[in-house]
Amino acid sequence: MNKTEYLLACLSEECAEVQKNVGKALRFGLDDIDPNTKLGTNGELILEEFYHICAVVELLQEDGIIRKPSGYWKREMENDKKKRVTKFMEYSKQKGTLK
Ligand SMILES: [Mg+2]
Repeated sequence: MNKTEYLLACLSEECAEVQKNVGKALRFGLDDIDPNTKLGTNGELILEEFYHICAVVELLQEDGIIRKPSGYWKREMENDKKKRVTKFMEYSKQKGTLK
C-alpha cells in the first residue's frame, strides 16, 4: 500500500463513520447520546466525522493527490448541490414520500 492508497482508505473510513452516525440520528434522533460511549449527540458526531473527512481531504490535497479547488469553484459546487437537493426535495413532496 502506498501513501495515496493509505489516505484513500482513511477517507473511506471517515465517510463510513459519517454514514454510521447519520443512521443513528435517523433511528434515535439528532440529540440522542449513546449511553455506552457518551461521546456526544448524534448531530455532534456527524459534524465531527465530517471534519475528519475534511482533514483527510486536505492531506490528499497537500500531497497533490487531489486538486485543491478555488474558493469560487468550491462555492459553485456547494450552490449547485443545494439547488439539486432542493429540486429533488420538491419532487419527493410531489410524489408524497416527503411530508
Ligand atoms: Mg473519524
